[in-house]
This record gives sequence, C-alpha cells and structure tokens, in this order.
Amino acid sequence: MKLQYLGTAAADGWPALFCKCEPCEAARRAGGKNIRTRSQSIIDDCLLVDMPPDTYYHALKYNVDLSAIGHILITHSHEDHFYPADMILKAEPYAHLGEAKSISVYGNRVIVDMLRQAMDSSGIEDIEDYINPVYVEPFVPFAIGPYTVTPLPAYHMPNEECYIYCIEKDGKRLLYGHDTGVFPQPTAEYIARTFFHLVSLDCTFCLRPWEHGHLGLPNNAEIRKEMLEQGSADQNTMFVINHFSHNGYTIHDELVPHAEKLGFITAFDGMIIEV
Ligand SMILES: [Zn+2]
Ligand SMILES: [Zn+2]
Ligand SMILES: [Zn+2]
Repeated sequence: MKLQYLGTAAADGWPALFCKCEPCEAARRAGGKNIRTRSQSIIDDCLLVDMPPDTYYHALKYNVDLSAIGHILITHSHEDHFYPADMILKAEPYAHLGEAKSISVYGNRVIVDMLRQAMDSSGIEDIEDYINPVYVEPFVPFAIGPYTVTPLPAYHMPNEECYIYCIEKDGKRLLYGHDTGVFPQPTAEYIARTFFHLVSLDCTFCLRPWEHGHLGLPNNAEIRKEMLEQGSADQNTMFVINHFSHNGYTIHDELVPHAEKLGFITAFDGMIIEV
C-alpha cells in the first residue's frame, strides 16, 4: 500500500492565510517542506482521503488525475477536510468526461447532509449521476474495490461523530488517525486488538502535549509505546506524524529530529510512504 500526503497542515495552513506570527514567518523564510497546505492524502494513487479547498492545487502539483478518482473517504466536516462546493464541479457543464462517471463520497451523517445540500442547490438535474453520498457506520467495515475500510470514532467535535479510518489491503493495514485527541475508549479497544503496519497520527500541536480534539508529539509517543506493548504494532510498523498547526510553533525542519528520536517520520506535503 502506498500513502502519499498531499497536504499536511491544519485548517489555517502553514504559513496561515492571514498570519504574521513567528512560526509562519519562519516557514515562509525556510520554504520547502516547511510550507504546508490543508489536509489530504491519496492511497495507491486511487483512493482519496478528505477533500480540502487545496484539492485543486494538490491535483496540479502532484499530477493527480481527479477524473479517474471513484472514491473519497471523508473524516469530518471541518473545511480543511471537506469543501463540498468543489464536489459539484464533477458534473456537466463543469467537467466534460464523455459520460457521467460517478464518484462515491463516504462519511458520517453530517458529511452526507452537507453534500446533499450542495447537490440540491447546484441546480443540476442529473447531479445524482455524478455524486453518490454514502453514509458509513462506526466499526462497520465496508469494501471499496480491494480495500476494506472501517470507520472508527475520533475525539474531535462535540456535535459530530468524526472518524479516523482503518484501511486494509493485501494483508497490510493503515491507521489514518487525524483530527482526534486521545482515542475514545471503544476506538482504543479496537486498535488494541488490531495489528497495523502503518500508523499516521495527529500532531497539530507539534512538541506541545495536547489531548482534546488534537494531539502533540508527547501524546503520539505514548500511543506508540502503548501500541507496541499491546502488540498492535511492532518494530517494523511505520509511525508518521501529520496535520500540523502554526500554533504548535515548531516548523518541519526543527520538528524532524525530535520526532526521529521517538520513532516517528514527520510528514511533509508530497511525502510518499510504502508498506
Ligand atoms: Zn483538520
Ligand atoms: Zn501563524
Ligand atoms: Zn478538524
């Protein structure tokens, strides 16, 4: 399984849109991997995870053929993960594909409602031929071609059941765990009895400890230790930190050595991991 990170920032981006704080200025000065766009990944060049407003830019920069994408997993409705207005551009007259090719968008009830609303207000009569909103239930696995996907509840928004995802193919298993604080008990129990080859964790607050809605590197280290102890990971499991905010202060170049010492790879825009 190949995982490519297309965007590795929280909602504000890094540097943030309107921000002049020192971590944003440091990222502007350093450039390269220190520049982070909003959160999105793609698995094996075919399964998208999240649909932020930077999707268009990601497609151009990383040569992603969005017309060939048939499935998108959405974690939750924050705008750095889901920008439904862009989904409408899948339909005629915004996209000319010869024939209507449907894209399935999987998520919680809020995602399905938001997408239906965008579809209804688009005024496009046959919009259903292009977009297929699919509600997926926590802990209920479903198939997307060769992938088995299981949504797991995150600890992130009070009014919405946000998901992290367990994604499996050919005996390899990925935990895609962003926009969550310390895992809710049922999710922690699921993880405890499941083996993962690749674990991607929320590190919004960088070196700062954080438990509510997001995580920081000290918390990631605790999760890693626990997973190794309970056998849901081993020394070959790859651990990645991702989804960073300027409010975590530490730019990519300075974060890397801290993460390395604790057994983590620090994600950057465009990074590819294979397991
Ligand atoms: Zn986010
Ligand atoms: Zn800033
Ligand atoms: Zn969020």
